[in-house]
Amino acid sequence: MAIETVNPATGERVRTFESDSPTAIEEKLARATSAFANWSRRPVAERTAVVGRAAEILETERETFGRLMTLEMGKPIAAAEQEADKCASGCRYYAEHGEEFLRPEIVAETPDGRDAIAFEPLGAVLAVMPWNFPFWQVIRFAAPALVAGNVGLLKHASNVPQCALAIEDLFRRAGAPAGAFQTLLIGSDSVGALIADDRVAAVTVTGSEAAGRSIGAAAGAHLKKSVLELGGSDPFLVLASADLDQAVATAVKARVVNSGQSCIAAKRFIVADAIYDRFVERFVAAMAALRVGDPMDRQTEVGPLATVAILEEVAAQVDRSVAAGARLLTGGRRLAGPGNFYPPTVLSQVPAAAPAAREEVFGPVAAVFRVAGPDEAIALANATHFGLGAAAFTRDRAEAERLARELEAGSVFVNGMVASDARFPFGGVKRSGHGRELARFGLHEFVNIKTVRMTGLPSEGRTSPRR
Ligand code: NAP
Repeated sequence: MAIETVNPATGERVRTFESDSPTAIEEKLARATSAFANWSRRPVAERTAVVGRAAEILETERETFGRLMTLEMGKPIAAAEQEADKCASGCRYYAEHGEEFLRPEIVAETPDGRDAIAFEPLGAVLAVMPWNFPFWQVIRFAAPALVAGNVGLLKHASNVPQCALAIEDLFRRAGAPAGAFQTLLIGSDSVGALIADDRVAAVTVTGSEAAGRSIGAAAGAHLKKSVLELGGSDPFLVLASADLDQAVATAVKARVVNSGQSCIAAKRFIVADAIYDRFVERFVAAMAALRVGDPMDRQTEVGPLATVAILEEVAAQVDRSVAAGARLLTGGRRLAGPGNFYPPTVLSQVPAAAPAAREEVFGPVAAVFRVAGPDEAIALANATHFGLGAAAFTRDRAEAERLARELEAGSVFVNGMVASDARFPFGGVKRSGHGRELARFGLHEFVNIKTVRMTGLPSEGRTSPRR
C-alpha cells in the first residue's frame, strides 16, 4: 500500500511519501535503544510532565490537528476536533496518575528489608495503528507507554502519514528526548522484521482480525509480549421496557459514529418483539434523515468512508446480505460523484450466515433483528466471533444486571453508547483480541511487573525500590 494522503471526500491525491529506507529504519531503531537507556531512568515526574505538555499542545492546536484528520481520513470536522480534545484528556489522565500507577506496591516491610512489587519499563514498544481514530488510537498507547519509561515506535496506517508525523512532532515539542517517540514510514510487510528485532521489546496492534493474526503470530514466534485490539460486531439490545426515544437516538449515534468506522460502533440491533415495529420505523426514518456530505462542513453528520477499498467492501457486504435474503429498509447504494460516500443503510431479516450478521461491517450499515425477549437477545448477541462492546436498553434493574453479566464483551453499557474513556480499561474477548488499553491496566501491559524482595540490609540507609 502506498504511503500517501488521498482526500476521501474528493479522491484527490494530496501528498505521497517515500517509505523509510533500510538505513533509516536502522537509525531509528538505534536511536530508540539509546533513548530508552536515558528515558527509562528519568524520574517519573519528568516523564509525566512531557505527557502533560502534549495535552496542552493538543488543546491549543485542536483545529490544526482536526483539519489534518479530516483531510486524511474524512471524519466530520467537529468530531475530529473532539478527538484532539479527547487525546488531551487522555494525556492529562496519565500525567496525573502516572506516579500512582508506577509506585511500587509494598507487600511487607521488615526492619532489615522490604518486599515489593515494582513496575519497570520494557524497552521499545512497536505500535501498529489504524486510521479510523488517527490521533486517539496512537495517544492511548503512547501516553501510558512513555509515562512508564518505554519508548515508542509508530507504524501508522499507510493512509494517514501526516497524522503520524504530526504526533511524532507533538511529543518532540512536548519535550520528549530524541528517539523517545518515532514514526516509521513503512508498509505492513516491514512489521515482521521489526518484531523479530531484539531491540523491539513488545508490540501492540489496533486493527483488523487479519492484522492481529499476523502480528500475534510474529510476536508468538519471537516470544514477545503483544496486545491485540481488533474488530467488533457490537450488539445493541433494545428490550421491552426500554425508553424508546433514548434507544432510537442513541442507536443512530452509535451506528454512524465516525461515519460508521468504529470498532465499537453498534452494528447488530437486537430488538424485543414488543417494541420492534415502533423502534424500526423511527430508527429507519432517523438514519435516512442524516446529512451526508463534505466532512469539512460543520453541518455534516456522515462523511465519506476513508478509502475506496473500504467503500467497495461495505457495498459488497450489503449486496451479499441482500442476495442472501436480507431486506433493505433504507440506503444500500453508493452515492454518485467523487468521494467515497455511502449512505446510512438499514437491513432487516438478515440471515445468520449473511455478512451483515457474521462479519464486521465498517461503514454506516445497521442490521436489525427481532427477538422474543431477553433470553433470545442474549443468545443472539453472543452468537459472534467478536466480543468488544455491547449496549443494552432496559428500565428493568434485574434485567440490566443479568445483561451486564452475560453479554460476552470487554465493555457493557446499559442505557448508553459504548465509548472509550481513559479511566476505564478498553479491549475485547474472543476474536476482538486480548490485553487492555487505558486505565492502570493499559499502563501495566507494557511493564515488567517485578518482584523485589530485600532482606539482610542495615536498617539505616535502607534503600527503597526506585521511584
Ligand atoms: P488494518 O487493515 O488491519 O490496518 C491496521 C494497521 O495494521 C495498519 O497500520 C496496517 O498497515 C497494519 N497491517 C495490516 N495488515 C497487517 C499485517 N498483515 N501485518 C502487519 N501490519 C498490518 O485495519 P484498518 O482497516 O486500518 O482498521 C480497521 C480495523 O481496526 C477494524 O477491524 C476495526 O474494528 C479495528 N479497530 C479496532 C479497535 C480496537 O480498539 N479494538 C479500534 C479501532 C479499530 P497498512 O495501512 O500499511 O496496511
